[in-house]
Amino acid sequence: MGSQTEPKIPVVDFTKDELKSGTKAWLSTSKQVCSALEEYGCFIIESNDVSLDLHNKIFDSAKELYDLPTEVKIMNNTEYPYGGHVGGANYESLNIDDVGSLESTQKFTSLMWPDGNARFCENMHKIASLMGRINEMVIRMVFESYGVEKYSDSHIESIDYILRFNKYHEAKDHMVLPIHSDSSFSTILYQNHVNGLEVQSKDANKWTVYDPPSRSCFIYLAGDAFKAWSNNRIHPCVHRVFMNVNDQRYTLGLLDFQKGEIRVPDELVDDEHPLKYKPFNHFDFLMAHMKHILACKTHNVARRLNNQLCDIAINWVGGLHHVNKCEASGFCCINDLVLGILEFLKHHPRVLHIDIDVHHGDSVEDAFYFTDRVMTVSFHKYGDMFFPRTDYVKEIGEREDKFYAINVPFKDGIDDTNFNRLFKIIISKVVETYLLGAIVLQYGVDSLARDRLGCFNLSIDGNAECVRFVKKFNLPLPDNLNRKSYLSTIKMQVLENLRSIQHAPKCTDAR
Ligand SMILES: [Zn+2]
Repeated sequence: MGSQTEPKIPVVDFTKDELKSGTKAWLSTSKQVCSALEEYGCFIIESNDVSLDLHNKIFDSAKELYDLPTEVKIMNNTEYPYGGHVGGANYESLNIDDVGSLESTQKFTSLMWPDGNARFCENMHKIASLMGRINEMVIRMVFESYGVEKYSDSHIESIDYILRFNKYHEAKDHMVLPIHSDSSFSTILYQNHVNGLEVQSKDANKWTVYDPPSRSCFIYLAGDAFKAWSNNRIHPCVHRVFMNVNDQRYTLGLLDFQKGEIRVPDELVDDEHPLKYKPFNHFDFLMAHMKHILACKTHNVARRLNNQLCDIAINWVGGLHHVNKCEASGFCCINDLVLGILEFLKHHPRVLHIDIDVHHGDSVEDAFYFTDRVMTVSFHKYGDMFFPRTDYVKEIGEREDKFYAINVPFKDGIDDTNFNRLFKIIISKVVETYLLGAIVLQYGVDSLARDRLGCFNLSIDGNAECVRFVKKFNLPLPDNLNRKSYLSTIKMQVLENLRSIQHAPKCTDAR
């Protein structure tokens, strides 16, 4: 895919000695910064603060971090959504929370290198402090330009800086980070010698490659929160990462998150700019954004399948089957499965939902309890007040859905053999009877042995066998309370229910 190189990203010179508030240079630079953010949502910062030697040291340290064993890197955790260690096919990232304080960088360094790594700590603290100073200058410039400089100090005091390390693997003609804008207030990015960042023009027609003029340049990207604060004056920078080189791209991003509420200054509301945003908590906004992305993923998966762009698609973070329309439940905040199934129903007369999480798929069943267009089959633990305390084998749906809700309740300790045997018999019969168009599989892994929430004895192979009907795991396991007679009763009851279906339901309307 080719990238158009026009228009160019504005370059703003931050090397001037007299760049101090009140000077002529400050005023003209502030003007450039504001117009770049309004028109492009980004600009290149020309700085002379990073020598080639420091540049090399920083990215040598970043490489050292990525070269650590995965079991060490996964200890990097954070309370922020999207934070902590993330390993994907295309990229890997880690982050240091609250990087404004030296202690946080020291804490992160000790976690990664218990024997210490003073060089890493020093380099990262140096570059993060430098980027922080640039960000604060930009904030002061923009706030002054809008005549709201009285809020600069309180904004700067409320910043919770996060330093994010990103590594993009070598790739040929491949988008390794999809199109998005950041949910931060702003992001300052510093990169090694490998380009890949592309920014979209405001009219969304063109992409421009970020090609820094020197190793001492940064790019400033306005985030969604900056747009909201400015009452839509600032354009959030829409960007992506596109790799087409046989080399690894490393970046350091300093993200500005506000600790508390973000509110549009009264001075930025007038007849021409009526108030667009209520005050909001930045952290709550991030959480809402994450839920939206999560739901969008399953929805997009369904759309791709509907459009025959693929045969099988996976949302690795989906499967939130406990939340209902009005209430979050069981660590679930948005029912991506229901949204995905609804999308499938636009193209398919019947959809089968199979749930092999150790917990009952209660809210997906509830959502489709009165329609035969969706058959829900949940294999789960039942009894002993186990969450969510539903649903026994006799729960079979109501009205049009009668017999189209199937529950296979197990007791503690079900193993691969029994689970897979029953799974195979029931699903084969369901597929034969129901003539479905699409399958949504909630592949909960808490049915694996030794899961802290679960109580089943399935292995990874056994769990996978629910799709391919194979294999068995051989570890010391807790007692299997699913005696032969019990399993036989369950099987008979489910098959008996299935026998009540005379034929596949006709679907003449889209209920
Ligand atoms: Zn579960």
